[in-house]
Amino acid sequence: MTRTALRAARLFDGTACVDDPLVLLADGRVTEVRPGRDAPVPDDAELVELPGATLLPGLVDTHVHLAFDGGPDPVTALADRDEDALLAAMGAAAAAQLAAGVTTVRDLGDRDFSALRLRERGGSLPTIVAAGPPITSPGGHCHFLGGAAQGVAGVRAAVRAHAERGVDVIKVMASGGMLTEGSDIAGGQFSAGELRVVVEEAHRHGLPVTAHAHALTAVRDAVDARVDGIEHCTCFDGERIVLPPELADALVTRRIAIGSTVGLAPVPGGMAPPPLLARLLPDLLAAHATLIRAGALVVAGTDAGIAPPKPHGVLPYGLAQLVDLGMTPPEALRAGTATAAQVCGVGDRKGRVAPGYDADLLAVAGDPTVDIGALLAPVAVLVAGRFVRRPAAVAS
Ligand SMILES: [Zn+2]
Repeated sequence: MTRTALRAARLFDGTACVDDPLVLLADGRVTEVRPGRDAPVPDDAELVELPGATLLPGLVDTHVHLAFDGGPDPVTALADRDEDALLAAMGAAAAAQLAAGVTTVRDLGDRDFSALRLRERGGSLPTIVAAGPPITSPGGHCHFLGGAAQGVAGVRAAVRAHAERGVDVIKVMASGGMLTEGSDIAGGQFSAGELRVVVEEAHRHGLPVTAHAHALTAVRDAVDARVDGIEHCTCFDGERIVLPPELADALVTRRIAIGSTVGLAPVPGGMAPPPLLARLLPDLLAAHATLIRAGALVVAGTDAGIAPPKPHGVLPYGLAQLVDLGMTPPEALRAGTATAAQVCGVGDRKGRVAPGYDADLLAVAGDPTVDIGALLAPVAVLVAGRFVRRPAAVAS
């Protein structure tokens, strides 16, 4: 058995900082973290020096779409791809995530369970937590992914079919979305009763539910249905963004995971958001800042893949934006590692650098606990103890 020893300037272990750590890896896992510059390197370990760098758990994006290619029209691009071309494109998306240091992704919407097939095919991939096609209403948001269902019996059958296919989470489109022409972002797509059955049936199968919700009414219904998470959480009433205090209170006290759709990568020549989003954005960001201040469980669910400013691997920009919204850099790092891993249901093996955890690691130049922008300078990425991106100094 060969061991790897990583020495860096500092470690953010998912919750706290350690100076001058020596991190030991074996069999794809972290075995030990020795603090201090003088910590001895075991004789049988290959030492990799990462001078000036900070080691972190590999990042966790709670909301991506590997099936969307991040181009100007990802929906048409997807429609034009057959199964082989789709899996190839998803492999490229997965590689881009890894290159940015994102070693776990929760895919919240693929076509016909393609994320499960990508995962089964294997290769150098981030860990993929998959929802399959989102459950949506006939003709509703992202219906073209194949997850349309209707009525209490229909949604119950859809959840059961997803569970039988082996998904890890149920994604339900509680309101319309901007990617789907004709869907209503100010209105709900399911009755309160249908949403309750989605949650009831998912929980019966041991699966969490996260609801896509732009509409205020959809956020309310999702909270009442006892979902585990809400994506976007836009709270749009048809005119403006509204965050009623009692709704904010319910989100906070029930520890509902709020996937904030943060993170915009610079696009050559710039790219304006859709006009409605541009108008709503300041108030939307203010509402999420309010939720963060109130202690809500907010994570960065970037929606990577849906547009050019949302390429695969955009999460570091999202974590920087959480700092803009009021988190300290260590809080944002926790949101992108340990907390995000818990939200994805893999918190017992991902999102921390501690004995027994998977050796999915990221090293960045500088100190992201002080300057979150350092996340944009990855120098090494490891998955299960193997380098998928090697530091230049030890390139082989
Ligand atoms: Zn999405």
